[in-house]
Amino acid sequence: MWIKRDDLTGTVLTGNKVRKLEFLVGHALDYEYDALITCGGVHSNHCRATAFVAAQMGWPCELVLRGDEPGPVGNHLLDQLAGAELTHIEAALYSQSLESILEQRAERWRARGHKPLVIPTGGSDAIGLWGYIAACEELTDDCASLGISSPVIVSATGSGGTQAGLTAGSIIHNLRAQVRAYAVCDDRHYFNHKVRTDYALARSLYPQLPDIALAPDTCDDYIGAGYGLANDAVYQGIAELARLEGILLDPVYTGKAFFGLTADLQAGVYSEASDIIFVHTGGIFGIFPHADGLRGASQLR
Ligand SMILES: *Cc1c(COP(=O)(O)O)cnc(C)c1O
Repeated sequence: MWIKRDDLTGTVLTGNKVRKLEFLVGHALDYEYDALITCGGVHSNHCRATAFVAAQMGWPCELVLRGDEPGPVGNHLLDQLAGAELTHIEAALYSQSLESILEQRAERWRARGHKPLVIPTGGSDAIGLWGYIAACEELTDDCASLGISSPVIVSATGSGGTQAGLTAGSIIHNLRAQVRAYAVCDDRHYFNHKVRTDYALARSLYPQLPDIALAPDTCDDYIGAGYGLANDAVYQGIAELARLEGILLDPVYTGKAFFGLTADLQAGVYSEASDIIFVHTGGIFGIFPHADGLRGASQLR
């Protein structure tokens, strides 16, 4: 088993979101945007990465966050350090009216003389999709230099953009890979549909993308109690990998996906696979809001 270390994409930018932001910010520069607005959960990795990218660009940033203010910890604390404006929206209203809330916030920035780019949840849109299409080019080189052929590529999936980019990019860049994603929130029908519609939308904007048949493969057996909620088995898996390999997973995404992967390995799901590449999508700062559960797991021997 191999691990693609996308947790090492940066310190404050750690994880998969900066691969999408690379293209989103490129788009912002091309079209002279000068402020970023995005949205997510209170401990969103995508929001934290966007806040730091905005600070690096010298642009203001507003984050529309689902739910009440948590304590000063993890990504939420970092958002504040990066100088982002935080707008907390109560969960029910957030899920009902996200689009119109984002549009209102954008209007506010326009009234102040800015041109804000509104980035959707997780940066998963037709532009962000390019991040993991490009990552597949890198993976093709990785596989060539390591002598890996026909790998199974495994990742967590939350807003679908990483999965969509890997699923399409592995075909576009001739990786001859199977891509399997572990859901952390919605079910497999949602993600399989999201991957296809994201790619179809991207093709309508970028005609250079080939007309390929995508067969997304999502496993939704390990979501547990829901998004952002982990159980002792996930905590123990995180503690075990930390002490066995010195690699840190997070309880929201990578820890759950890795737990699913190891359970499926034991169940024989990967009996045909010669090489498995787990894409470590980051999420380190998501450790801290789960300190109590993780401390319990780390005390077990
Ligand atoms: C956002 C995120 C994911 C999921 O990626 P999507 O492209 O949103 O599906 C996986 N792992 C981590 C650590 C993330 O922050």
